[in-house]
Amino acid sequence: MESLVFFGAGPSKIPDQVLERVQDELLDYGGTGVSVMEISHRSGQFQQIITDCESRLRRLLGVPDNYRVLFMQGGATGQFAAVPLNLSLTGKADYFITGTWSKKAAAEAGRFLDVQAVLPAADRFLGIAPAAQWKLRPDADYVYYCDNETVEGVEFPNVPGTGNVPLVADMSSNILTRPVDVSKFGVIFAGAQKNMGPAGTTVVIVRDDLLSRGLKMCPSVLSYSAMAKAGSLLNTPPCFNIYVTGKVLEWVEEQGGVSEMTLRSDIKSKLVYNTADSSDEFYLAPVAVDSRSRTTAQLRLGAGADLEKKFLQEAEQAGFKSLKGHRSVGGIRVALYNALTVPQIERLVAFMGAFAADNRQ
Ligand code: PMP
Repeated sequence: MESLVFFGAGPSKIPDQVLERVQDELLDYGGTGVSVMEISHRSGQFQQIITDCESRLRRLLGVPDNYRVLFMQGGATGQFAAVPLNLSLTGKADYFITGTWSKKAAAEAGRFLDVQAVLPAADRFLGIAPAAQWKLRPDADYVYYCDNETVEGVEFPNVPGTGNVPLVADMSSNILTRPVDVSKFGVIFAGAQKNMGPAGTTVVIVRDDLLSRGLKMCPSVLSYSAMAKAGSLLNTPPCFNIYVTGKVLEWVEEQGGVSEMTLRSDIKSKLVYNTADSSDEFYLAPVAVDSRSRTTAQLRLGAGADLEKKFLQEAEQAGFKSLKGHRSVGGIRVALYNALTVPQIERLVAFMGAFAADNRQ
């Protein structure tokens, strides 16, 4: 439906062109006479699908040769456990807690390791404390952060410096929206369901030298070294999801790759934040300017919750679906992932302008 704009924060919009290609191939994959959902994960066809998917991701992100790309299960939440289980060396790790997801990750890691918070404790997450306040242990096994906090809309403007301590990043909600120098990281992981395809597979990029660490108790399905050895085929993977992910990556390449996605993310997020900042506090963007997310913009209405409710109702009637903020923080969340187009966001900000004009008190 042309006029509907879907802002689901995850699972999220998949480009229409991708859905159409999937539809075309659904009943008969590549002349096999069966659906891609039905072919064996040990077949030549699926091997080609997963190899292509990995190659595309390597090209798009410029993944160096000394990194493995794994397709794992258990979602990003599975990685909250996998990271400490795989990276423990002396049993301690430092966590930046900048929102809901890094807080959950730190709590999960605390089941296995001594976890220390890098930042001073906060009740609300509206930015990232300056580096002078960071507490980093030079002998930690790794430092963990969430590059974009999907719920609060807080995004790191730069990769935090951690010296020689391996850096781990959850990029679930901003992967492929800006360039990343993979060589700065020990591990990068991301659930597919925002910028890479349907929920069900989690991409893990891990540096080779980290594969020999970890706790003995680590289950094989969460083990980076076991998955690397098996080429991500330790057990039956979510074949269909990996196939669609490959199609999304193909689409990103056709559109112009990560540089084009970066450009579009900047344009889209500026449209939204500029509309809020120039609205005379009708709309508020509460996150500190330098750490405002380019992919999950958090907005409030200055007049409060009742008008937010009206905004969401009228937005829905106008075809803008799923703008409601996460239940834990309320407000409005504008997902600006790669599948959302610049014209769609132009339409949204026009709607925001008209709503403000009609409802200003
Ligand atoms: N990290 C981030 C940044 C997320 O946005 C989410 C989910 N929205 C998660 C982790 C958890 O992902 P999953 O539901 O795949 O476990």
